[in-house]
Amino acid sequence: YGVIVNGELIRSDAVVLASGGYSALYKYFSGVDSAIGVLIGDAIIKGAIASSLEFIQFHPTAFIGKNRVILISESLRGFGAKIIDSNGKRFVNELATRDIVSREIFRRIISGERVFLDLRGINNIEEISPFVYNSLVEEGIDPKEDPVPIMPVAHYTIGGLFTDLYYRTTIRRLYAIGESAENGFHGANRLASNSLLECVVSGIEVARTIARDQPKSPRSPVNLKVFEGSLDSIGDLREILWNSVGIIREERDLKEALKKVEMLEIDPRIKILVIGIIKSAILRRESRGTHYRVDYPTINHKLSKRIIYDGRVVRFIGDQHVA
Ligand SMILES: Cc1cc2nc3c(=O)[nH]c(=O)nc-3n(C[C@H](O)[C@H](O)[C@H](O)COP(=O)(O)OP(=O)(O)OC[C@H]3O[C@@H](n4cnc5c(N)ncnc54)[C@H](O)[C@@H]3O)c2cc1C
Repeated sequence: YGVIVNGELIRSDAVVLASGGYSALYKYFSGVDSAIGVLIGDAIIKGAIASSLEFIQFHPTAFIGKNRVILISESLRGFGAKIIDSNGKRFVNELATRDIVSREIFRRIISGERVFLDLRGINNIEEISPFVYNSLVEEGIDPKEDPVPIMPVAHYTIGGLFTDLYYRTTIRRLYAIGESAENGFHGANRLASNSLLECVVSGIEVARTIARDQPKSPRSPVNLKVFEGSLDSIGDLREILWNSVGIIREERDLKEALKKVEMLEIDPRIKILVIGIIKSAILRRESRGTHYRVDYPTINHKLSKRIIYDGRVVRFIGDQHVA
């Protein structure tokens, strides 16, 4: 194995994938453009198993700016910010979990309403959250004067490459950590701030694992397989996922989305990953954590298992509980 840098393969005994998640596969997302899971898809093509791909966390309170998304942390709701509709009426417990708050906001937005975060009750917002305050002012909104229009955005992807507790993937000498890995750390619904903790834990743990494993790569000649393809259709893909594989899901829409994605001309690494996301969301006929199915709105305790994906099929695995 190795890593390709400027077209050159740098070989090593072990490779640790730390390439982040895939929330930028959605039309609205909070992170960077490159978070489209290319290397997760690449590893799947090469035989790695992925898991829990259906669990995608949406952050409820983001402002969609001219050229950027400004995430407005829930700590401000802790300080008293209110979520209101255009009539100034509250409709959700602001301190409920992200999935609940996102769903309630999204329901209103798809029915044509606008939703706002009212920060006017926080007198010293510029001291509590200077980044949010200054960014909103730069966008022409004074949060001390006006409620801020908000919507949920894809924020964190719980799924990733299936690893054991020591961050080994199912490919020998390939390890994965952080948001690109999935070993049950976040269950079905990540608690806010746990991902940075996971980065620290997985980073230390994988170093220990590699020290113990002492992997040795045979230095035989490699038949380098490079998978690349066009990203021209990424806009269409983002639209499909946002509309049909997002905050509120339904079997009919998911199956329709799967057909559309299968027809799409796009980088095969992204395509294989997205097909896994949709197939996992179809298979999970219940609502649990970040995954909400309007046609199966309650939890089914018989499905307290993780779903794995081998690049072709998805299936539940036993004794691997998700909370
Ligand atoms: C706005 C925002 C606020 C957040 N706030 C919090 C918080 O308060 N607390 C918390 O716990 N979590 C928070 N998160 C989540 C947390 O930041 C991420 O889960 C975490 O950074 C993931 O770390 P990572 O190292 O796995 O991936 P990343 O931080 O995404 O890093 C992956 C790196 O890999 C690079 N990369 C990707 N593909 C390739 C490639 N093909 N070749 C070379 N390089 C590549 C990327 O450019 C990037 O530098 C937040 C996320 C966002 C977007």
